[in-house]
Amino acid sequence: MQTNPRTNKSTSLALDGGPPVRKTWLPYGHQSISHADVESVTRVLNSQWLTQGPAIEQFEQKLATAVGAKYAVAYSSGTAALHGAYFACGIGKGHEIVTTALTFAATANAALYLGAIPRFADIDANTGNIDPDSASKLINAQTKAIVAVDYAGHPCDIDELKALANRHQLLFLQDAAHALGASYKDKPIGSLADMTIFSFHPVKAITTGEGGMVTTNNPELAHRLRVFRTHGIEKNAQLFELDNPGPWHYEMQHLGYNYRLTDIQAALGSSQLDRLDKFIERRRNIATQYRAALDDLDNISCLSEKEYVRSAYHLFPVLLNVDIEEQSLAQLRENVVRALHAENIGVQVHYIPVYRHPVYRHLLGDQTYQTCPSTEWFYKRVFSLPLFPAMSDQDVADVVVALTKVMNHPCKRLGLTAGS
Ligand SMILES: *Cc1c(COP(=O)(O)O)cnc(C)c1O
Repeated sequence: MQTNPRTNKSTSLALDGGPPVRKTWLPYGHQSISHADVESVTRVLNSQWLTQGPAIEQFEQKLATAVGAKYAVAYSSGTAALHGAYFACGIGKGHEIVTTALTFAATANAALYLGAIPRFADIDANTGNIDPDSASKLINAQTKAIVAVDYAGHPCDIDELKALANRHQLLFLQDAAHALGASYKDKPIGSLADMTIFSFHPVKAITTGEGGMVTTNNPELAHRLRVFRTHGIEKNAQLFELDNPGPWHYEMQHLGYNYRLTDIQAALGSSQLDRLDKFIERRRNIATQYRAALDDLDNISCLSEKEYVRSAYHLFPVLLNVDIEEQSLAQLRENVVRALHAENIGVQVHYIPVYRHPVYRHLLGDQTYQTCPSTEWFYKRVFSLPLFPAMSDQDVADVVVALTKVMNHPCKRLGLTAGS
């Protein structure tokens, strides 16, 4: 019944009551759970330890090895891992971090948890990653760390950012929630920054349900990360009132949290990690299919991949490439997203710039809109196509057909002129 939109542009959009390209919803991201994953979790459920057992350290060591880091510390979420990493940096009240606004808000929120202020640098619109020149302008005496995000799985400008951090004696952190399995100049992400933060939310490269990890080569930072995730408890006595500490002794030297991952989750993580290479390979294969197919679409452009990186393709963001007024762009992007949703294609926007959220507008005012012109430009045009390892080639083809149908549709309500 479906008509090819390339040959018949009058096919009506699902938004207008026409038949959708797909009968079922295709989400932008989804986990892949295998029989081995289920068995791995079941083994822990039948064991002595549901939490604080051996599965956690096994997962930590396996991930540290996979990314070439000395230490890995598991957390209950990527957000908790960010909180722990900032604590380990010694970030507190009155301090600042320099980060990007093109991220999930947790990157910045974790600084607020500690009473510090995030400052937002602009991005390089070719990749969506933080622009080192813009970051350098925000550094002052209060700055403690530069926190880059490997947007969509494409590694940030690590050499430039590390040099900048070194010049100002700052720590360089990578929020690599998108970039497990990616590499930069043949080195795996997770081995290059002072600390690298991963997330295991179901849409990410591997999943533990909820979960996160911090990797580092610094034993001091690794120790602080471990203490923070278990209430700030230390076993070495430094009591103020030394009343002969007994075998029950523990003490809180810092205010920490319960941010532990369970053994149940760690078992899932270890099992998932066995398939990381396969997952990334499939993600990259889908990205190649998208690039080839979207070459024919004038009004959609893809982001570039630098020749010395290997992206993990957590996302496949595309940009509307149309010559219309800025005011009409917002309406166009909204209409395109709504039209694709009606075709059962679960496109999503990554991300609303963090400074646009009311929490940050109250904190920083609206000046960041002016200091981040590339972030604003990017945000108004971007949306992400579905991409996850379990997608079939037919799913990929459905996305391309739907996108072609919607973008070629000579309908005024999409804000595009006929034949554009
Ligand atoms: C997913 C994500 C996080 C948060 O991770 P959770 O595990 O969901 O807490 C942080 N930063 C970025 C860039 C993310 O994509």
